[in-house]
Amino acid sequence: MSLTPQSITISGAGPAGLAAAITAGRAGASVTVHEQHQGIGHRFHGDLQGLENWTTDHDVLDELAALGIEPTFECTPFYEMVLFDPDGRARRCRDTKPIFYLVERGRGDRSIDQGLYRQALSLGVELAFGDRCTNLPDGGIVANGPKRVQVIAVGYLFETDAADGAYCALPARLAREGYAYLLVHRGRGVVATCLFDDFHNERYYLEQTVEFFESVLGIKMRHRRRFGGVGCYSIPKTACKGRMLYAGESAGFQDAFAGFGMRYALLSGHLAARALLSGECQRYDALWRARFGRELRASIVNRYLYSGLGKPIRALLAAHIAGTSGVRARLKRHYAMSLFKALLYPLAGRSVGRRALTTCEEPGCHCTWCRCHATGSRAHPAGKEASPTASR
Ligand SMILES: Cc1cc2nc3c(=O)[nH]c(=O)nc-3n(C[C@H](O)[C@H](O)[C@H](O)COP(=O)(O)OP(=O)(O)OC[C@H]3O[C@@H](n4cnc5c(N)ncnc54)[C@H](O)[C@@H]3O)c2cc1C
Repeated sequence: MSLTPQSITISGAGPAGLAAAITAGRAGASVTVHEQHQGIGHRFHGDLQGLENWTTDHDVLDELAALGIEPTFECTPFYEMVLFDPDGRARRCRDTKPIFYLVERGRGDRSIDQGLYRQALSLGVELAFGDRCTNLPDGGIVANGPKRVQVIAVGYLFETDAADGAYCALPARLAREGYAYLLVHRGRGVVATCLFDDFHNERYYLEQTVEFFESVLGIKMRHRRRFGGVGCYSIPKTACKGRMLYAGESAGFQDAFAGFGMRYALLSGHLAARALLSGECQRYDALWRARFGRELRASIVNRYLYSGLGKPIRALLAAHIAGTSGVRARLKRHYAMSLFKALLYPLAGRSVGRRALTTCEEPGCHCTWCRCHATGSRAHPAGKEASPTASR
């Protein structure tokens, strides 16, 4: 395919928008990225996230490098994690290749956001900060992040003397239909609960999560600072609206099972730019479907089963994933589309789609997903926190 140099407009300077900008910049296009905030990475707070490395046999960093997206940010390979099953029993999971790469998000110099920004700048990309942009009348790439709320993650950033490590916990009391996690890297840590339902009881689940990790690991978390964020997932019939192509979470591209979205954001940003540069915008749908459509569909079925079947499926999952070696292959199988999943997909897709929230329904709420906690001073509605919706 021959890429024709031209002017490209992008809305949103997250991983999807910056990957698109890097791709277009490398092809010699004149690129402008409009970002609503006055800088890069304002959506995040220095939190640690995992760039997953299990949905393909090849390494995610090699894949990105082959697409022209260099790891100009700090990323630390993790070869091991501890998975706590629904009864709280620890199972060690290992691989000879990295299971994921730990990256920082936000405004810090070492973050993936800043690294991609520096790379885009070096290719002559222009950034227009403080420029909220909702319409691209002449076409372009929309990479504005989530617009609905189907999952939230709330937690604390902290300092610690504990050794580096990655932990994931499945007991239902820690995370409604989700999971809790703890990551430690070089004296910094993040502990969070990732909820797919019952968002209004986020504080309850978070405190349970902190207590759990403190008791099983004996970890001391100093200087705790709260953070939180929202996410959404869906598989669009099309991610094209005329010459406007949607990338990353603004298209719904996110792992519906566990909320991993960075890899899909980077890949879809790259593919959107390629389609736009080729002058054949409609090719974009075929490109993203071929690259990660199957994994997204499998993740929707996984989410449907995980949310619907409660503890037995959590136990099965823990048994399936855990093992002293080869955890990447086990996870890859989990994200593969089987005949069973293909048959279940229409039902799962409908059910998962119904779960999105667009507005806050609770009077006086100050939860992460509607962001009232930033300004609200009222307490959570009485009784709600003490007795969260019964978890399966
Ligand atoms: C707490 C938390 C933990 C997570 N952990 C992980 C993890 O471990 N691994 C993983 O893979 N994923 C994780 N995710 C998901 C991942 O962060 C997202 O999927 C990813 O950031 C999506 O990238 P994006 O570029 O599509 O959107 P974003 O990162 O949201 O970037 C969108 C950008 O667009 C800007 N913008 C929005 N509207 C406009 C507008 N109208 N005009 C101009 N600019 C606009 C925003 O300010 C932002 O800079 C996590 C998410 C959260 C909230």
